[in-house]
Amino acid sequence: MPELPEVETVKNALAPYIEGETIKSFHFYTPRLRQELDAALFNKTFSGKKITRLKRRSKYLLFEFDDQKWILSHLGMTGSWRICKLTEERKKHEHISIRLDNDQELRYCDPRRFGEFRVITAPLDSTTDPQALSHLGPEPFDESYSQEYLWDLSRSKTKPIKNFIMDPRTVCGIGNIYASETLFRCGISPLRKTQKLRKKDCLNLINHSQSVLQSAIDAGGTTIIDFQAPDGSEGWFHQQLNVYGREGEDCVQCDKIIKRIVQAGRSSFYCPGCQK
Ligand SMILES: [Zn+2]
Repeated sequence: MPELPEVETVKNALAPYIEGETIKSFHFYTPRLRQELDAALFNKTFSGKKITRLKRRSKYLLFEFDDQKWILSHLGMTGSWRICKLTEERKKHEHISIRLDNDQELRYCDPRRFGEFRVITAPLDSTTDPQALSHLGPEPFDESYSQEYLWDLSRSKTKPIKNFIMDPRTVCGIGNIYASETLFRCGISPLRKTQKLRKKDCLNLINHSQSVLQSAIDAGGTTIIDFQAPDGSEGWFHQQLNVYGREGEDCVQCDKIIKRIVQAGRSSFYCPGCQK
C-alpha cells in the first residue's frame, strides 16, 4: 500500500509536468473507484482551469487551482499515476485520463480500484465540510509536530504506542513499516503504553520518525509494497529495514531474535532485547 514516502515520490515526479498546465478534459473508463466518478462535475468544475500546484497532505495528492477548489487523489492499495503522450494507447486498468492542453495526458491506473478521486470545493481545513481534511493531525515535518505536542497528547492515552503513532489524528503518514522502524530506532517497545512515554522519548520519536521517512523519500519509497514511481524506477528502502519483515532473524544490534506480533490487525516487528 502506498504510504507517505511513496506519495511524496509521486508528487515530486509529477509536479514538474503538470504545474502551470491547463486541463482540457477528464475521461473516466470506470463508473467508480472507492466513490462514484462524476465526469460532468469534474469537467464543469475544472476544464479550462490551470493546475497551480500539486501538493501532498498525509497520503493524499492534492491538485490545487487558484479558486479554493481541489481535486483529491488517494492511491488506495494499488493506484499509480503516469504522464504520457495523448496518442499513447491506454493500458489495462487505466481508469482515468486527464487531458492537458500541451497534448500530454495524466493517467491513473488502479487494478483493485480502492483509490479515491474527488472534488473538494471547501477550504481544506473546513470543519463543516465532511469532504475536507480537518480530521488530520500535523504533518511529520511540520513544526507543530513537536515534543510538547506529543507529550501533552500522550498523557491521557492508554493504548499501545504503536497504535498511537499510527493514528493520523496524532501525526500523518507514519504507516506500518515506518512505525516499526521508528520504534526500533527509539528503543521503545510497540507494546509500551502511550502514557508511559518519557519526555525525551517524545523528542526521539519525532527525530527518528522524520529520519526514517526522509530516508524512504530519498530512496523513492519502499518495494515491500507493489509500488512504482511514475518514472518506472523502484524504491530500495527495503534494504535499510532493521526489523520490518524480519521475524525470526537476528537483531542487527544484539543477540536476540526479531519478533512479530499483531496490533490493531497489523503486524508489528521488534527486538525484545533493544526495545523496552
Ligand atoms: Zn536487539
